[in-house]
Amino acid sequence: MSETINNLGETGNFIHEAIKEDLGSHTENIITRFPPEPNGYLHIGHAKSVCLNFGLAQYYKGKCNLRFDDTNPAKEDVEYVNSIQEDIKWLGFDWEDRLFYASDYFERMYELAEGLIEDGYAFVCDMSAEEIKLSRGSLKEPGKESPYRNRSIEENLDLFRRMRKGEFADGEKTLRAKIDMSSPNINMRDPVIYRISHKSHHSTGDKWCIYPMYDYAHPVEDALEEITHSICTMEFEDHRPLYDWVVEHVRLKAKPRQIEFAKLNLTDTIMGKRYLRNLVENNLVDGWDDPRLCTISGIRRRGYTPESIRNFCAMVGVSKANSVVDIAQLEYCIREDLQPKVPVMHAVLEPIKLVITNYPENQSEELPIDNHPSGEMGERKVTFSRELYIEASDFMIEPPKKYFRLFVGNEVRLKGAYFVTCTGYDTDENGKVTTVYATYDPKTKNGLNFTERKVKGTIHWVDANTAKSVKVNLYENLVIPDENSETGYSLNPESLKTIEAFVEPKLIEAVAGDRFQFMRNGYFVADSKHSKEGAPVFNRIVSLKSSFKNNK
Ligand code: ATP
Ligand code: MG
Repeated sequence: MSETINNLGETGNFIHEAIKEDLGSHTENIITRFPPEPNGYLHIGHAKSVCLNFGLAQYYKGKCNLRFDDTNPAKEDVEYVNSIQEDIKWLGFDWEDRLFYASDYFERMYELAEGLIEDGYAFVCDMSAEEIKLSRGSLKEPGKESPYRNRSIEENLDLFRRMRKGEFADGEKTLRAKIDMSSPNINMRDPVIYRISHKSHHSTGDKWCIYPMYDYAHPVEDALEEITHSICTMEFEDHRPLYDWVVEHVRLKAKPRQIEFAKLNLTDTIMGKRYLRNLVENNLVDGWDDPRLCTISGIRRRGYTPESIRNFCAMVGVSKANSVVDIAQLEYCIREDLQPKVPVMHAVLEPIKLVITNYPENQSEELPIDNHPSGEMGERKVTFSRELYIEASDFMIEPPKKYFRLFVGNEVRLKGAYFVTCTGYDTDENGKVTTVYATYDPKTKNGLNFTERKVKGTIHWVDANTAKSVKVNLYENLVIPDENSETGYSLNPESLKTIEAFVEPKLIEAVAGDRFQFMRNGYFVADSKHSKEGAPVFNRIVSLKSSFKNNK
């Protein structure tokens, strides 16, 4: 990426067009909101909605509220409420003093529902859920009006008040909006706006036994907060006429406008909260922040930065058409973000020994190595001696064409040290290479000013005398396609591989959250859950190779 984009709210899109239309006519300052249901942790799809809502508010110098949409007396938890706030803050956004709970509006919502009854726009219906469903009609046929539709206002008010008092059982009565049973839009066919449920609510307890339905609650919440633009995902497009109807008919001044955009989908990634919760509750992953999950806390623990997520969301942009974004694009964004920021160190993930036969035993020297190719992060000293570790893949007995690393007779550069020429190797009884032998050329020290001859390969290494052993987690996709599974995927048994690697001694000082490039092996972070003082555990954030090209 040549320039930092970073604000999805800035990138041109149809939402801007809509906002500009409104600005100058009836909207002075925009107010958006992010309305999560506190029934799970946020995932990367939510991050897009967060970036969009808070980003637009930033761009138009407006405000964005955080509103917990807790109108359901179902399973909701302070753990979720806390994690959601932490994740939004981590992404770099601030709701200031505007943290709201939809359940705090229950009284107002109730009053406004009485208002609808008084204005002749709602009635209490005695039909069961099943009967209502059957009377709704279809796309081809109009629905049938409820026999209770023409109750008097007084009777409706009395029944609704008694519903609130708890005089009726679950499902015995509902409050329905009186709209149009022959509307071509089924959502407009006298939808239920209140139902009876004698369940306890996580914050209002047993105060209420009637609960507003989403299609009524959401526009009312928006109007109460004087939201100007209520941005949601495409599945609510067909509900927009009902949203507008509610906004128009309740006794509130604010007239928020609903605008839909397509959800973010990522290749080979299952995002639904229900799916994620199932993995966590069945201990199939290491908590909601397992680095393999697409939850924001998982991505954070994996080592992603908030900048990289914001850039990703901005790059993907918004549209009305559903699409699936290649996860390689997300990986591209973290590489672009980390490349200039983090030091490059040596870690050997699959070690074999390299013995420099003409280097004196018991001798050791310190060599300076640049911490970053830009030269802007200073240098460090690493020790060099007769026995080193290199990657097993950097030696081959029978090299294919264009293999420029070690094979008998070939010379390579050891990064920051000397040119070495391979002279031989040992194998174990299975033919596996255990040790590689080479000689070094003292004239080639540091390699940089040496021009007499060129080598094509440069490999990284660590000194066997001083290297430290650390645990490293390598990841593959959490799920793999599976035709026989309901979701189309099953868990990938190879998604986590933990290995012991040899690293430069300095890396042992890494503390949780420290990020590095391990030369040629990718970007890594010290795990925030399992790292201990002097014993960091590294997670691979992403490898260096990319299949994604940014054409911008
Ligand atoms: P899930 O289906 O994953 O459980 P949800 O839509 O039920 O998600 P909410 O807590 O209701 O989760 O969502 C909060 C906000 O995030 C909503 O405005 C919703 O539209 C938005 N959102 C959810 N998933 C995505 C996604 N994949 N891409 C963009 N926005 C999303
Ligand atoms: Mg939801």
